[in-house]
Amino acid sequence: MSDPRERYWRRLDEQLGRPELQEALAREFPPAADLPPGALTRRSFVHLLGASLALAGIGGCVRRPRQKILPYVARPPEMTPSAARRYATSMTLGGYATGLLVESHTGRPTKIEGNPDHPASFGAAGVLEQASVLGLYDPQRARTPRRAGRRSPWDAFAAAIGPAQLRNAVGARGAGLHLLLEPSASPLQAELLAHVRQRYPGARIHVDAPLAGDGERTGTAAAFGRAMQPVYDFTAADVVLALDADFLGAMPFHLRYARDFASRRRIAAPSDDMNRLYVVETAPTVTGGAADHRLRARPTEIPALVAALVEQIARAAPELAVQLPESAGGGTSAHAPWLTAVADDLLAHRGRAAIVAGERQPAAVHALANLLNVLLGGDGHTVRYIESPLSAGEPGTGLAALATALRAGDVGWLVVLDGNPAYAAPADLGFAALLGRARESAYLGLYRNETARACRWFLPAQHYLESWGDGRAWDGTASLVQPLLEPLYGGHAVADVLAALAGDATDPHDALQESWRRRLPPRDFQQTWDEMLQRGVAPDSAAPPIAVRPSREGVAHLLGDTAMAAEPAQGRLELALVPDAAAYDGRFGNNPWLQELPDPITKLTWGNAALLSPATAARFGVESGGLVELAAGSRKLTIPALIAPGHADDAVTVALGYGRAGRGRGDGDEQVAAGVGADGYALRTMAHPFTRRDVSLRPLGRRAALAITQGHWRMDGRPLALAATLTEFRRQPTIAPRQRGKPLSLYEPAPSAAPDQWAMTIDLAACTGCSACVVACQAENNVPVVGPEGVRDSREMHWLRIDRYFAGTPDDPVALSQPMLCQQCEKAPCEYVCPVSATVHSPDGINEMVYNRCVGTRFCSNNCPYKVRRFNWFDYNAEVSETERLAKNPDVTVRARGVMEKCTFCVQRIREAQIGARLEDRGLRSGEVRTACQQACPSRAIVFGSLTDPEDEVTRWRDHPRAYSVLHELGTEPRVRYLARITNPNPRLEAGAG
Ligand code: SF4
Repeated sequence: MSDPRERYWRRLDEQLGRPELQEALAREFPPAADLPPGALTRRSFVHLLGASLALAGIGGCVRRPRQKILPYVARPPEMTPSAARRYATSMTLGGYATGLLVESHTGRPTKIEGNPDHPASFGAAGVLEQASVLGLYDPQRARTPRRAGRRSPWDAFAAAIGPAQLRNAVGARGAGLHLLLEPSASPLQAELLAHVRQRYPGARIHVDAPLAGDGERTGTAAAFGRAMQPVYDFTAADVVLALDADFLGAMPFHLRYARDFASRRRIAAPSDDMNRLYVVETAPTVTGGAADHRLRARPTEIPALVAALVEQIARAAPELAVQLPESAGGGTSAHAPWLTAVADDLLAHRGRAAIVAGERQPAAVHALANLLNVLLGGDGHTVRYIESPLSAGEPGTGLAALATALRAGDVGWLVVLDGNPAYAAPADLGFAALLGRARESAYLGLYRNETARACRWFLPAQHYLESWGDGRAWDGTASLVQPLLEPLYGGHAVADVLAALAGDATDPHDALQESWRRRLPPRDFQQTWDEMLQRGVAPDSAAPPIAVRPSREGVAHLLGDTAMAAEPAQGRLELALVPDAAAYDGRFGNNPWLQELPDPITKLTWGNAALLSPATAARFGVESGGLVELAAGSRKLTIPALIAPGHADDAVTVALGYGRAGRGRGDGDEQVAAGVGADGYALRTMAHPFTRRDVSLRPLGRRAALAITQGHWRMDGRPLALAATLTEFRRQPTIAPRQRGKPLSLYEPAPSAAPDQWAMTIDLAACTGCSACVVACQAENNVPVVGPEGVRDSREMHWLRIDRYFAGTPDDPVALSQPMLCQQCEKAPCEYVCPVSATVHSPDGINEMVYNRCVGTRFCSNNCPYKVRRFNWFDYNAEVSETERLAKNPDVTVRARGVMEKCTFCVQRIREAQIGARLEDRGLRSGEVRTACQQACPSRAIVFGSLTDPEDEVTRWRDHPRAYSVLHELGTEPRVRYLARITNPNPRLEAGAG
C-alpha cells in the first residue's frame, strides 16, 4: 500500500462510508431527484451495486480498470476528427427502397437524411427512416444465436442447413423446406432465392407482410389484363382524388409524392395555378388534412362511392361508361352533390386528373380507379404504369398456404426471415402455435420476439446500416445498401442465410458486386460500381412505362355481382385496422423517438386508441380516455377510446403495432415496446385483414391516462395559423395585413456588423404536418425522450412541435397544421427576464441559450408567448445506454438537468458552414446552410437563409403577400414567418372549403 494513489482511494472509501456523510448525501440528494419517474433510483442502484459486489465476493469500492487509449500516430488521410462524412445507402420498408445519406462521425452513424439523387426521397427523409438510426444502437437488440433457448453459434446453424443435414431432413429435392419472407424488390435477394430453388427445386417460398394487400394486383390485372403498378406524377395533376390513400403521409414513395404535390400548392402570384385535392377516407390522415374537400366514409362505403362516381361520370360522358353490378352505388345518395361535383371536375380536367386508390382497398376500388385514370386520359401524363419491382410471391404461396402445410405436418424445415408473423398474422390462423409443428424452424430477426420464441432456432439479424444489399424504389430505381459500421451486436443478414442455404460461400460484398457485374455493362464496371456506391443509385434503372389497354370487360367481370355497398350489422361498428404512423406494423415499437412522436393527427404518443367520431362516441356514451371493449366473434380487445374529429360515423379505427407482450429483460427482449398500447391484430382474421363490419363496442366504465400532446402549449383564441381560399387570395393577395409590417417601437433597431442575418419561412400551404421535421430536430439536436409519464405531465422536450388546428364543425372539420419552434424574436421577451443572461442575442440574429449560465428559473419560458422553451426537469440522459450515446450528435451539447433548451436554428450547422467558407476564403453561398428540419421536409415547406442575401429564397418569401408573423401585435419581431395556407375549394361545394 505504498502507492500514494492507492492510499488516496482508500481514504476516500473510508470517508464515503461514514454514516454522517451518508445521511447528509441522502438529505441533499433525495432518491429519484434527478431521474425521470420509473427510472432506477440512486438508492435502488446502490442496493443493486452492493448486492452484486457481495455476490461477486468483492468488498469495498471498485474502480474502472486502467485501459490504454492511443491517439492516431498517423491519421488516415480520409479522416478529419470532428468533420462528419456522408455515405449513401438505402432503407427498405414494405419491400421498397428509399435512398438515404447517413452522416457518420468517426465511424459512427448519427443522422439520417434523404439522398438528393434518389427519386424516392430527393433529399427528404420520413420519420421511420430518420429514427432507424436509434434502432441501430438499441441495446435491446438480440446478440445471441440460440437453439431451443440455449446459446448455439451461427456455425451450428450453418451446419444444420448444410446440404448433408438438410437433405436428411427435407429430402434431396427439398420438398419439406419452406421459406417465409417479406415482399422484396432486392435484385440480390431474387438471385439468391433462384439459387436456393436450383438447389432445392421442391422448396416452397412464401411471401407475406401484415400490411400488404393484394387489391392493387388483382384490380389492375382486371383493368389492364395484367398486374401493374401505377406511378403518379402529381406535378402534372390539376385534380387529384384519393380513395383511402394516404399518399402524402404513409404510402410507399410518399416523400416524392409530397414534394411533387406541394409544388402545385406553393402559390407565389395570384395568377399561379393550383391543384385541387379530394379525399375519401375513414379516419383523418395527413393526406386528408391537406384536402380541399374531404368526405368521411365507413370502410365498406368506399367501393359504393367509387361506383357512384363512375355512374356520375358516365352520365356526363357516356363514352366512359363501365358496366357495374345492379347494387353498385347504393346508399350513396346523401353524397350525390359531392360526387357530381367531383365527377364534373375530373371530366373538366381530362389528361390532368389522377385517382389514387389506397393500398388496403379491395380489388374493385383499384380496378375502377385505374380504369378511370386511363379513360380520363391520365396515362402517360399524371400516371404511368410499370411492372411491379416487388416479388410479392406467387398466388397461393402466402401465409395461408404455409399454415396449411404446417397443419398437415408437411414442413420439415421452416426458415422465417424478418417480419414477426407469430405476432402479426391473422388471429384465426393461430400461427404462433402452428410454428411448433415444423420439425425444425429458424427465425432471423432483430429482436427475440414472439416468432423467435415459437421457432427452435433464433438468429440475431443485422441492422440495414450494418449490411450489404440492394433494393428498388417504387418506380423501379435500383439502389445499394452499404454498411456504415461493423455489426455492433454480431448477427447476419437475410442474404447470408439465403447464401448459406444455396451453398454460396461468397462474402456479402463480393456477392453483391458479382450480382451487379452481371447486370451492368462490362465496360468500366469498376467505375460504374464506385459511382453507384458514391451516389447510392444505379444509373437509368427506373422501370420503363408499359402501354396499357383498358379492359372494361375485365373490370365488369371482376365486379360481377359484388355487393359494392354494405351496412354494419345492427348496433355494430365497422372496424378499420391501419398501420401506425410511428410503430408501422409493430417493427418500430422499440424505438423511443417514435413512441414519443405525437401522431400527426391525434397527437397521441406511447400507444394507440380506438378512434371514434364525436357522434359515434356520444352514441356509445364514451369519452376520450374511457376504456372500451371491442369484440368481434370470440375475439376481444380492451383499448382506450379517443374522439377524432373528422372520423366517419359508425366506424372505429385502430392502429396496429402495439400491445406487445412483456417478456422480461433478457437479451433481445423489446422492453420499450412491451405493454404499450393494445394489440389490434387480435381482431384481424384471414377473411377480414383490414376491415370488418361486425364489431361491437362496450364502455367499461374505467379510464386510461393517454399520453397526448394536444392541448399542451395552447395559445387558443389568437390568430396563429391563417388560411384563405385561392379566390380570396386573388382578390386580396395580402392575407393578414394586421400581422405584418414593422411594429411601433420606442427603440431604434440595434445595429449589427454580422454579414448574415438568419431567418426562416414556413409555407402552411405546403406543410402536411407529417412530422419528419420533428424527428430531424430530435436527431440533430440530441433532444431527449421523457417517457409516457413525462408526456402526460406536459414535459415532452421536442424543440419543434406541430400544432394542429380545426375549423368548421367537430364532426366534419378542416384541419390545419402549423410547425411551431423558437421564433428567434428580434425583440425577444425571454431575453430581458433572464436574471443570469443565459439567453442572449447573437449578432447574426439568433436567440441563443448559454446552458452553463442557466440556473433554471424558467422566467424565460413564462414570458415566451409561443411556448417553445423546454425545461430539463430530470436527467433524461442518465438512463441512456452506452450504445445509444453513440447516436448523439457530437456537434451539439447533451444538456444536463435543470436547464432550459429550445430551437437554435441549428447553429452548429451555421458555424460549420461558416468555418468551411472561411477555410476556402469566401463568403457563404445562398442556400448553403440548411437546418435539419428544412432538410427533412418532404414538401419543402421550410425555407432558411440569410436576409442579407438578396438572392436567398428566404428573402424572397419573407415579404410575400402571404407572409405573416405569429402574434405580430406583441412586437416581438420574429425571424420566423409563416406563409398563409391557400386552399382551392370547388365553388360548387361549400362545406370543407378550407
Ligand atoms: Fe430544430 Fe434546427 Fe429546426 Fe430549430 S432549426 S426546429 S433546432 S431542426
